[in-house]
Amino acid sequence: MAVLLDGKALAAGLMADLKLRADALKARGKTPGLAVILVGDDPASQVYVRNKGKACEDLGLLSETIRLPQETSQQDLETQIEQLNRDPRIDGILVQLPLPRHLDEAVALRRIAPEKDVDGFHIENAGRLFTGQSGVVACTPKGILYMLKKAQIPLAGKEAVVIGRSNIVGKPVAMLLLNENCTVTLCHSRTVDLAAHTRRADILVAAVGKPRFVTADMVKPGAAVIDVGINRVDGKVVGDVDFENVEKVAGYLSPVPGGVGKMTIGMLMENTIEAAERKAH
Ligand code: NDP
Repeated sequence: MAVLLDGKALAAGLMADLKLRADALKARGKTPGLAVILVGDDPASQVYVRNKGKACEDLGLLSETIRLPQETSQQDLETQIEQLNRDPRIDGILVQLPLPRHLDEAVALRRIAPEKDVDGFHIENAGRLFTGQSGVVACTPKGILYMLKKAQIPLAGKEAVVIGRSNIVGKPVAMLLLNENCTVTLCHSRTVDLAAHTRRADILVAAVGKPRFVTADMVKPGAAVIDVGINRVDGKVVGDVDFENVEKVAGYLSPVPGGVGKMTIGMLMENTIEAAERKAH
């Protein structure tokens, strides 16, 4: 049976450490501040934004949510971002995605000052990751690496296979694993014979968005399997991994819910505190 990578417990430990760092900044008169821009009324986004606000509250951070109407123009969104770039109380700015379809996501993200880009999606931070320079790392990939390291799973020289090549999960997690000296294979919907790749993986990351997509026969015995997927099936949240069967083959497995998702908000808090620490130095 696989060892469970318990995101809930890890996130609790992380939040306790972050609380100390936030308190140290506050003692110096610098309360870290996070601003979240939410455009429109997507129900899932509302939940995410609420959870982020709650995490800020738990750590005593300044939290500001800017709600803009669905029909907000690109210009108005960018003006709002620029105001926050100039606001000295705000260390981190996050534009909740997805944006309504008439808005240009890439252009909006580029408006965020890179040092306040706590999601790590700005082209400068993505470029820093890809060139091995320090910068803000996207929260979910950062959380995945944190999980692997906390479980002391060896990375250097190991075969890592990532399914999914999005800019927010697949590509940055592949880069982080490469920086840890894994031999990385990045798979996607055009990959031929996916299982032949996944069966070689010592570390397998599934970021596909398809319920129970990774089956036990695709997993190398003893592998560390990280399930990033969040899928809703009959009102229940399930991951991309067929948990019940993969659990019998894998060495380590992150559950959904209670796995990677729990780490993501923790890493957002860490990125915000780090931004405040950089400014305070
Ligand atoms: P995207 O839809 O942007 O990317 C999905 C990727 O899966 C694409 O690269 C796609 O390939 C690939 N894919 C689709 N079908 C197949 C297939 N049959 N075989 C191999 N690859 C395939 O999703 P995201 O990266 O944004 O998110 C992935 C999942 O992770 C979602 O369930 C999402 O909800 C979840 N998520 C969870 C987070 C967390 O905090 N836990 C945070 C962010 C996302 P191609 O590029 O060729 O189309």
